[in-house]
Amino acid sequence: MSIDTQYAYLARSKESHLSTVTPRVARLLKRAWGLPYESESGDAIVKSPSRVCAVKAMCLECMGYEAGAIDAIRDCQSVACPLHAVRPFQDAKLAKIKARRERIVPLGMKRKT
Ligand code: SF4
Repeated sequence: MSIDTQYAYLARSKESHLSTVTPRVARLLKRAWGLPYESESGDAIVKSPSRVCAVKAMCLECMGYEAGAIDAIRDCQSVACPLHAVRPFQDAKLAKIKARRERIVPLGMKRKT
């Protein structure tokens, strides 16, 4: 498989994944991958890949983008996971604020209409 074919496959794979998540999570994933994304105000932003966003995206995916994922990540007991020590939402106060927001609009998958 040529390198161009591999890049094309990766691009298709990312595009396909983005189509299954909410705009908020899509922004997080694009930020993690270093792809251009739009801010909440609609401005186009290009930044280099972010390790912080990558860890956050991985933990959210690990928890299935479920409502309550933020609490689940904070309380994650998988101490053998290489990301456990650096997982997001460990700050209880911040996690509480984000969890409240999450209850209003679920973080993960797109709502069925
Ligand atoms: S730290 Fe916990 S939530 Fe994050 S990826 Fe590892 S097992 Fe999943």
